Amino acid sequence: MKPAPFDYVLARSAAEALDHLGQVGADGKVLAGGQSLIPTLNFRLARPRLLVDINGATELAGLREADGTLTVGALVRQRTLERWARTRLPLFADALPLVGHLATRTRGTVVGSLVHADPAAELPALLLACDGAVVARGRAGERVIPGRDLYRGPLTTALDPDELATEARFALPGDDAGWGFAEVARRHGDFALAGAAALVWRDPAGRVTRARLAFFGVGGTPVLAGVAERVLAGETPTPSRIAEAARAAAATLTPEADLHATVEYRRRVAAVLAERTLAAAAGRARLPR
Ligand SMILES: Cc1cc2nc3c(=O)[nH]c(=O)nc-3n(C[C@H](O)[C@H](O)[C@H](O)COP(=O)(O)OP(=O)(O)OC[C@H]3O[C@@H](n4cnc5c(N)ncnc54)[C@H](O)[C@@H]3O)c2cc1C
Repeated sequence: MKPAPFDYVLARSAAEALDHLGQVGADGKVLAGGQSLIPTLNFRLARPRLLVDINGATELAGLREADGTLTVGALVRQRTLERWARTRLPLFADALPLVGHLATRTRGTVVGSLVHADPAAELPALLLACDGAVVARGRAGERVIPGRDLYRGPLTTALDPDELATEARFALPGDDAGWGFAEVARRHGDFALAGAAALVWRDPAGRVTRARLAFFGVGGTPVLAGVAERVLAGETPTPSRIAEAARAAAATLTPEADLHATVEYRRRVAAVLAERTLAAAAGRARLPR
């Protein structure tokens, strides 16, 4: 199909993009990498009056690391983050190659994926696992939306229609953190049927000091399973303790059935992936001296 008619403008700065968005409100859409928006337009699932292309706003293209925070501008492509992560952030290095295909990652932006809010997308779960946030700029000024407050439902976030997400911030886990990432998809590059990302930190005696477990593909939004941390905190991560944490986390999920998987299948797979990723993370965590 072809999209319904729309007007198009190339914004040369974030301020210019905001001007345009402010004029049309809910009738406008930001165009970043276009990997989700263009198919949505072609299927006429969205009929914006105006597309505001931010690819001319080069001020949004920066990826920087400072004071334990990774800041990713709205024009940073997924492929750029993937390359950076290879030497800096193994959790992301494991996850990014599973986000679509090389061609979609070369064009698709990190922030575009975060705010598109597909419940089966990998990056929103990484945002939750890394205590991340999205910075939103609108006519009323700038606000920082923590990942845990960003996701409201499938393809729905706390962003207002006239707001631009200018950057995402991820708390870097540090070299001591162990990581695990796994998903089940029918074919490489497909959206996951279920997936999990885990981080674990341990003390010199080997006990867990902190843990993060985030799921995707198992509900209307990505899910941060705080119960996993509560089960593991202060404990030695033995296989039985990890299995208990994974079971407890999966029990909190409310997955939905669709053409691809039943509720029971998704919950079962989520429990298995939680156990695997937590075990991997606990095994990789470095004990501080
Ligand atoms: C074949 C195929 C396979 C894919 N597989 C996967 C997969 O396995 N996992 C996965 O996670 N994704 C997958 N995707 C989606 C892809 O990764 C997209 O790149 C991503 O979801 C959106 O990023 P984008 O930059 O292309 O955003 P766009 O398509 O440009 O925009 C997506 C939405 O976000 C809004 N938006 C974008 N940027 C901003 C901003 N800065 N401020 C406010 N609103 C904004 C747009 O208005 C639009 O509503 C796949 C896509 C394709 C075509």
